[in-house]
Amino acid sequence: MTKRFQVGILGATGMVGQRFIQLLKNHPQFEVTALAASDRSQGKSFQEACTWRLAGEMPAFVKSMTIAPPQPPLDCELIFSSLPGDIARASEGAFARAGFPVISNSSAFRMDGDVPLLIPEVNPEHLALLDVQRKNRGGQQGFIVTNPNCSTIMLALALAPLHEKFGVSSVVATTMQALSGAGYPGVASLAISDNVLPFIEGEEEKIEQETMKILGTFKDTRIEEAQMAVSAQCHRVNVTDGHLAAVRVKLLRPARIEDVSATLASFSALPQELHLHSAPDCPIIVREELDRPQPRLDRDAGSGMSVSIGRLQSDNVLDYRFVALSHNTIRGAAGAAILNAELLIAMGKLI
Ligand code: NAP
Repeated sequence: MTKRFQVGILGATGMVGQRFIQLLKNHPQFEVTALAASDRSQGKSFQEACTWRLAGEMPAFVKSMTIAPPQPPLDCELIFSSLPGDIARASEGAFARAGFPVISNSSAFRMDGDVPLLIPEVNPEHLALLDVQRKNRGGQQGFIVTNPNCSTIMLALALAPLHEKFGVSSVVATTMQALSGAGYPGVASLAISDNVLPFIEGEEEKIEQETMKILGTFKDTRIEEAQMAVSAQCHRVNVTDGHLAAVRVKLLRPARIEDVSATLASFSALPQELHLHSAPDCPIIVREELDRPQPRLDRDAGSGMSVSIGRLQSDNVLDYRFVALSHNTIRGAAGAAILNAELLIAMGKLI
């Protein structure tokens, strides 16, 4: 029988925390046994503390669970964290020191040299950093694995097969990001109605830095970053879920457009080979229609875990351009972290 790990969710009442709860309901390998959030919620039942913001009912199994502070110990074996970046460092660090594996969404540890910034289809070999992390951090039994920023994940997934086959030398990405990416209540309705906001704090830097780490190579004890120029401009748009990015790429080796399209569409990697529970059959879906992908129509592709790519064309400035789309709270957050944990189990890093 498959072992079910008992898991705790930090930031359980938030947009990503609710997505964790929804995706972990009936998960064959995980059972939610602890929930944590801010002092506004601590001591209350989940039902009292949380207004359920996702479609459908609040799952019954969490309703009467009591919200704890996000500090060890918690009654679980593994932590999924969706805490705000500014408090995540202290809390996640404390759990790792106390012996808990921490699978985090937040930005706090992503760029630390000994922390894997993991996309299971792209860089599973970066998990070798866990031995380095243990050594660096006094032999602690716990560890931290992070998933990238929600826009970076879809960009890096789209670039990975192109980089492997043709080499990518430059990328320009212009994002149009959904409202749920800002958490709840997020952006004021009067600021976003009839409007586009051309600034999301810290987002452009995250995409530019994280992409090179993810596509980098593990050498000895560190990640050698990919040698490519990445430029990002980020916008908040009036869409509930689903981040879109208009992407231009310059390749190192010449490629015909048919080969670029086939390379994206045929991409399959370790999670598909291992049949991980949350792995989509197709990590990248290439659409031929002139007006796709669209957030409302395509964000749920592959149960929210596939990146949809369309509008692939030659470009007059760089070599090719395309539009990428993925679900920001599933592939971009909770689903990404759960897939990371499934890979850790498959690779014997969680026992
Ligand atoms: P959110 O909706 O604002 O939820 C924040 C959660 O953190 C809530 O559970 C909140 O609890 C808790 N919290 C806030 N301040 C706290 C404190 N001082 N101590 C303990 N808990 C505290 O935010 P979110 O969108 O879920 O984002 C959570 C994290 O995931 C952030 O780091 C974000 O950058 C990252 N992320 C988000 C997305 C996305 O698409 N939304 C994608 C990728 C990564 P209360 O309800 O008690 O206040």
